[in-house]
Amino acid sequence: MYKLIDGKAHSEAIRGEIRERAEKFKSTYGTDVGLAVVLVGNDSASQVYVRNKIKGCEQTNIKSFAYYLPEDATQAQVEELVSELVENRAIHGILVQLPLPAHLNAENILKLIPESKDVDGFCEQNIGNLCMNRKCLVACTPNGVMKMLERENISLKGKNAVVIGRSNIVGKPMAMLLLNADATVTVCHSKTANLKETCQQADVLVAAIGKAKFVTEDFVKDGAVVVDVGMNRDENGKLCGDVDFEHVKNKCSYITPVPGGVGPMTITMLLYNTVTAAERSAELG
Ligand code: NAP
Repeated sequence: MYKLIDGKAHSEAIRGEIRERAEKFKSTYGTDVGLAVVLVGNDSASQVYVRNKIKGCEQTNIKSFAYYLPEDATQAQVEELVSELVENRAIHGILVQLPLPAHLNAENILKLIPESKDVDGFCEQNIGNLCMNRKCLVACTPNGVMKMLERENISLKGKNAVVIGRSNIVGKPMAMLLLNADATVTVCHSKTANLKETCQQADVLVAAIGKAKFVTEDFVKDGAVVVDVGMNRDENGKLCGDVDFEHVKNKCSYITPVPGGVGPMTITMLLYNTVTAAERSAELG
């Protein structure tokens, strides 16, 4: 019988810990933990994400600073705002909601955020430190996966882990985290030969592909831990993952559902990174 990994329950428990840390920060240093969220334009999905991030801040006693710029904001306007936030000592984390409107150069904007305030864990220094297995701010989705595995007491040492997907924000940092946790890691992508056979070797299989129900039961070894990062719509418009959950679940020891698995952890790890960034900045004085 498989065990469902309940991302909502883990997320709530972690938010409780973050709230305590944020309260302790305020009582120690007399100032709130602060997160700045920058939204440029009118993308409706981005507006929902930003609203949920602000709500997450309210739940965890983190002060949010929301900045809404119009769709036609110039590169200079966005850069000027981000540069001000970098200098603002009340702000410990800066999040620029992606995607930005097409006329803006996202790379040049994100480059302005120093590693100490890069709560998305996207900047080169944070990625480099992750590769070196040093203290850093880690990309939220893969870090959320690690937290769930840790809280379920799933040991990774010496295990075969297979990650399907090599994006900079999910697949690559996921692989690095698993490697740092002493798993033997294989990273697969669209050009991988023998994908199914490779996945069949996995004790831990992480799917981060973006294709509805792509991972079928013949990909999965008996007793495997299956983590589904995907967020897709099925043929009926219903939210589903990259894993064909109904057919795969009975082969697994543990599996994450969609919705209610990895998804709820992502914003929680953003809040976790923000309180961590605040504590580290205070330690540095
Ligand atoms: P992405 O940038 O599109 O990357 C997808 C990866 O999957 C690529 O590396 C691609 O290979 C690989 N891939 C595509 N088709 C494949 C195939 N047929 N066989 C093997 N590999 C294949 O996507 P992403 O940003 O990493 O996101 C992945 C999924 O996670 C999406 O469904 C996204 O919505 C979801 N997501 C969820 C959360 C959350 O909070 N739950 C957060 C972020 C992302 P190539 O590199 O060769 O093209």
